[in-house]
This record gives sequence, structure tokens and C-alpha cells, in this order.
Amino acid sequence: MTEVRQKRARTCVGCGKQSTKSELLRLVRTDDGVLFDPTGRKSGRGAYVCSASCLVNAFKSRKLQRALKCGIEQSEVDQVIADMSKSALAL
Ligand SMILES: [Zn+2]
Repeated sequence: MTEVRQKRARTCVGCGKQSTKSELLRLVRTDDGVLFDPTGRKSGRGAYVCSASCLVNAFKSRKLQRALKCGIEQSEVDQVIADMSKSALAL
């Protein structure tokens, strides 16, 4: 297997669009549930979305649950979206 370390394409779990890591928002599964990972550096199983609406779509279609291999509560999705919008405002 060949691994390309730089600019590895990541796929949005919502719409399937491929982008580099820096253009996508990372979610990470932790012991405390699913969180938004603004740095992209938290350890744990991660999934990427390009926007909050893709996050909602991925959650509703259960693609997000499949990507993270866990059940996800609506409240966790709401929290992730709140954190995403806060971090967007901070930019
Ligand atoms: Zn997307």
C-alpha cells in the first residue's frame, strides 16, 4: 500500500466531495461523544464535512454514524453545529 502523506484528499461524509483537510471541518469521536475539532489534531476516529448542512445530512442519512462507527445523539450534532458557528465567528 502506498500512502500519500501530504495533501491527502478527505471526503465530506455529507455530500461526498473531496477536498484537502484544511478545507473541511473535522469531527472527532471521543469518550465524551462527538465533538467539533477545529485544530484537526485531536486523537480519535474522525470524520470530515464541508459545512454544517452536510453534517446534518450525514447525520440524517446515518453516514456520519457509519463513518465514526458509533451512535450519535441529535444533541451532539446540535452542539457540534453551535461550536462550528462560534469558531466561524471567531475567524
Ligand atoms: Zn459536503
